[in-house]
Amino acid sequence: MQFCRVRSVAEAVDELSRWGTEGRILAGGTDVMPQYLRGEQSPAALIDISGIEGLQGISEVGGVTSIGALVTLRRLATASLVQLRHPALAQAAAAVGAWQTQTVATLGGNICSAAATADTLPALLVADAQLMLVSKSGRRRVSLEEFLEGPGATALRPTELLRAIEVEPLGERTSEGNLKVGRRSAMDLAVVGLALRLSVTPSGVVSDARIAVCGGTRSPHRVPSAEAAIAGSQLIDGRLDCAEAGAELASAAVPERADSAQYRRRVLPGLLSRLAERCVTAILGAGG
Ligand SMILES: Cc1cc2nc3c(=O)[nH]c(=O)nc-3n(C[C@H](O)[C@H](O)[C@H](O)COP(=O)(O)OP(=O)(O)OC[C@H]3O[C@@H](n4cnc5c(N)ncnc54)[C@H](O)[C@@H]3O)c2cc1C
Repeated sequence: MQFCRVRSVAEAVDELSRWGTEGRILAGGTDVMPQYLRGEQSPAALIDISGIEGLQGISEVGGVTSIGALVTLRRLATASLVQLRHPALAQAAAAVGAWQTQTVATLGGNICSAAATADTLPALLVADAQLMLVSKSGRRRVSLEEFLEGPGATALRPTELLRAIEVEPLGERTSEGNLKVGRRSAMDLAVVGLALRLSVTPSGVVSDARIAVCGGTRSPHRVPSAEAAIAGSQLIDGRLDCAEAGAELASAAVPERADSAQYRRRVLPGLLSRLAERCVTAILGAGG
């Protein structure tokens, strides 16, 4: 196997075009290396992009946050800009493995591995994440929703590199959060993960609700029927009743015969209520 260390996006896309389906990008390596060592993957070339400085920034462009594909999960969990503008993403990144893993694992790698249990994906889905892809033949922009084609399967072409992720920051009177339940409270994959982004008008009506889940047998995904069950609801005494949305979430997000389906169906409504309570408290606390 050949090891190609590249220093720029131009060099990376040259190598990708040279190796095609025989090449594999290496970012933090927390998914690639275990798969290689287990003999599940044996690419002809590993293209190490970890030294490309241009993929390591977090910036604000025209009101949108742009996150380089090589930004580590540890940085996402601790950067004040992310904690402030994208709290669900910061919380999701902090829930991945242990800090040793977070220190090397990248956001781009978590997205491109596209595991059903990928912790950052629900938070990215509620922030309407857009992926900036680049290859020798040009650039394209794909929504995360379109990118995810099934567990471990994506719309990424063999010659393409994920360069950056653009996420919509929180608007006025909007809050969000992320919760994960694993078999253990730390260092375990999600049995179920949930992200909620909620907007409430000054008169206490939910004007927008975005809900996304991970865990189980499907790719992380939004749950439109549960979102519709919350949208338009009126807060009563500063509280949001999520009973109907929780029931809808449990039945829509967990297919009948999935592994541990019963447990996930039981847990999801409670997670939704906790997140909704947190969001409402944050919105009301920030100015009524
Ligand atoms: C001990 C341990 C615990 C873990 N716990 C969790 C957990 O709790 N939750 C969770 O979600 N994950 C967990 N993971 C999985 C892993 O850490 C994440 O998926 C990680 O974010 C992958 O990022 P990486 O930089 O290491 O990717 P890599 O392993 O380098 O790459 C992953 C995949 O993405 C591709 N890729 C990477 N970057 C790009 C790019 N810029 N453009 C195109 N393709 C790219 C690679 O070719 C490869 O297919 C754990 C892993 C370990 C080893």
